[in-house]
Amino acid sequence: MAVVLDGRTIAERIKQNLQRELASLSGKPMLAILSFQTPSSSLYLRTQCEQAVSLGIETTSSAYPTDTKQELVEKILRKWNEDPKIHGIFVHQPMPSQIDPQRVSAAIDPRKDIEGIHPQNSARRFFAKARIGSCTALAVMELIESTGVSLEGKEAVVVGHSEIVGRPVSMLLLDKLATTTICHVGTDKAGRLEEHVRRADVLVVAVGKPHFIKGEWIKQGAMVIDVGINVVEGRVVGDVEFDAAKERAAFISPVPGGVGPVTVMMVMKNTVEAFKLQRG
Ligand code: NAP
Repeated sequence: MAVVLDGRTIAERIKQNLQRELASLSGKPMLAILSFQTPSSSLYLRTQCEQAVSLGIETTSSAYPTDTKQELVEKILRKWNEDPKIHGIFVHQPMPSQIDPQRVSAAIDPRKDIEGIHPQNSARRFFAKARIGSCTALAVMELIESTGVSLEGKEAVVVGHSEIVGRPVSMLLLDKLATTTICHVGTDKAGRLEEHVRRADVLVVAVGKPHFIKGEWIKQGAMVIDVGINVVEGRVVGDVEFDAAKERAAFISPVPGGVGPVTVMMVMKNTVEAFKLQRG
């Protein structure tokens, strides 16, 4: 029976460290959040603002209708880039289909880009030189580190290759010398997903499909980090069949209460990092 990784406790520990760090800084960081008017984005925005307020991080936010044009998003970002009071910029994803996420990433001042999505920051991550990286990927690494298990030489399998989760987390696993395999739609179409999942010592799943990974595929003693957030009949569930996977894994993150709370705290941590970088 697996140890369930408690994201809320880990987030609280990070918060306490941040509180100490903030108390030692002169001045307050400010986080600017651009979101779109969808139910999940509104909930996430509220959580982010609540956590920021509780830490004394100032926030400004704008929630736009889902038919907002690219030009308006870029105009807001330019305004925030030029505002010296703003230290961190976060744009909610997924963005509406008419918005090009790559143009948005490139429009953020790289020094204020707290998701590590600007091309300059993505390149730094590739060379293991990132100063600030994807909040979700960093949250995954925090959960893994909390177990005390070394990644060196382990078979790590990441399912999903998105720019904000799958790819950055794969790079971080590689940096820790895990033998890292990235699975995606092509792997599934080739009928080879189960085979890769079955040999994972460390499995990270970020697909966005409820109970997509079957519990019986999990290797005995594996570590399972479930990033997925799906709503099924009013309940939030992950991408992994939690109950069955828990019987085989040594460690497993739940949904909700696993990666999510730690990700929110990494947004705060990255805002503080950006503030320190801008202050030199
Ligand atoms: P995304 O951009 O939609 O990416 C999903 C990934 O899954 C893509 O790489 C996609 O590949 C892959 N995929 C889709 N169908 C697949 C299949 N049948 N087999 C294998 N791979 C498949 O989503 P995301 O932003 O990475 O987020 C993933 C999930 O994590 C979502 O549920 C999201 O809500 C959640 N999330 C949680 C947090 C948190 O803090 N807990 C943060 C961010 C995201 P293709 O691109 O090739 O289709």
